[in-house]
Formats: sequence, structure tokens, C-alpha cells
Amino acid sequence: MSRRIVLLGAPGAGKGTQAAAIRERFGVPHISTGDMLRAAVAAETPVGLQAKAVMEAGQLVSDEIVIGITRDRLGEADCEPGFILDGFPRTRAQAEALDALLEELGRPLDCCLALTVDVEEVLPRLLKRAEIEGRADDNEESIRKRMREYEQKTAPLLDHYRQQDLVVEVSGVGTIEEVGRRIEEALS
Ligand code: AMP
Repeated sequence: MSRRIVLLGAPGAGKGTQAAAIRERFGVPHISTGDMLRAAVAAETPVGLQAKAVMEAGQLVSDEIVIGITRDRLGEADCEPGFILDGFPRTRAQAEALDALLEELGRPLDCCLALTVDVEEVLPRLLKRAEIEGRADDNEESIRKRMREYEQKTAPLLDHYRQQDLVVEVSGVGTIEEVGRRIEEALS
């Protein structure tokens, strides 16, 4: 069964929710670079101070910063049995850095789980989340920017992982439970 998983999907595809469910089922940590960056912003660390405005504008934080925090996190003991990476990698440079790091650790990826959704589906979901959570980057302009960033920089990573024969595609359309069951079947 897969234990070292990269979760790819457009903003609003439900990655965070499904990653939390996978963590429960597989007993591996859920590593979200978005959550780590938001915590850094809240704590006003040097990384947080650098990332704040970029995140609010819906742009990508620099590869150097996110590669650094992910490398530190993957080196922690709880990642030995595996991990589910949510929101990383988002660029080719990040994907290559991850490959190199995992090779160094002798722990290659088992799978790239691609959660597919229709943009028409996603926009209302994000606007609803903006109302409920009040995330600083959930305004329409920032959401559109994040979609463009995804399409231009992150979606091409599917090819990177296809070349390694790691991609498992699952439809993210449906209830949380329906999507969760599809993921469970696909990963077992
Ligand atoms: P998320 O919670 O994954 O949607 O991430 C929220 C925001 O954090 C993104 O819009 C980016 O500004 C930033 N971020 C999170 N992960 C990354 C990453 N891997 N590379 C660059 N920026 C990131």
C-alpha cells in the first residue's frame, strides 16, 4: 500500500480535507505547505514576514522558502513511515528538489494522487470557504490568480510524475465520503 504520497489538484479540489482523511487511514502525517506558511505568518517568523503579502495576492511563495520548510519537515521522525504532501510540489523546481531529497533519504515516492475537478465546480466552493473561514487569500482576484498559477506551474507536474509512472487519478467531484471511498480504493 502507498505510504509516500503527493497530492495534486487545483485550489479548491478538496486536497486538505482528503489529505486529513488519508492521514487517519494510513497513520502518516499530513504535510501542508499552505498550513505551515499560514502558521509562520501568524507567528511573524522571518519566513512568515516574507511570505505574507505574496500569499495574500494568490502568488506562489519562492521555491527556496518552501523547499527549505518541506525539507526540514520531511526530516522529522514521524515522516519515516510515510507522509501525505498537500500543496507541495507546485513548480518543476520543487518537484525536482523533492525527487533529489527522497533519493538522498532512500525513500522514493509511491504515488502522485491527482484529484481532478472542473473549474466550474471549484470556484463556488472557494467562495463559500472564503465566507466560512475568512482566509486572507480567499477573495475573487486572489482565487483567480491561484487558479492561473496552478494551471501554468503546477498542472504540468502531472507529466513529471506520469514519466515516473506514479500518477493515480481520482475524481474530486461528489461528497467528501464519495471522494474518500474512491481514494481508498485507488490507493489499496
Ligand atoms: P494552500 O493552502 O496549499 O492553498 O496554499 C496557500 C498559499 O500558500 C498559496 O496560494 C501560496 O501562496 C502558498 N504556498 C503553499 N504551498 C506552496 C508551494 N508549494 N509553493 C509556493 N507557494 C506555496
